[in-house]
Amino acid sequence: MKIFACTNCDYHSVTSKYTCPKCQQGKLQETEVSASGTVYSFTDIHIAPAEFAHIAPYTVALIQLDEAPVKVTARMDAEVQIGDSVELKGLEEGAFIYTKAD
Ligand SMILES: [Zn+2]
Repeated sequence: MKIFACTNCDYHSVTSKYTCPKCQQGKLQETEVSASGTVYSFTDIHIAPAEFAHIAPYTVALIQLDEAPVKVTARMDAEVQIGDSVELKGLEEGAFIYTKAD
């Protein structure tokens, strides 16, 4: 997956910005890293916003990427626990969909 790393400090993000919001000096450069990661925290969504009501209940996890100091918010397609290894399954309507790694 693509992440954006500051050329000046240790700031990393999954969203592109013109200048680094942390040090205000560096530019964010696109870097390709593995989408594999570890579940940092998760929550089950039972009352979903209208656009996701048809898939509720579902699990949203905060995933710490293995190869970069970035956390990604993703929808899980399986039950997970904190510390589980997960991998990117795909994108759906702009949302990251993750599944448990083998
Ligand atoms: Zn910076």
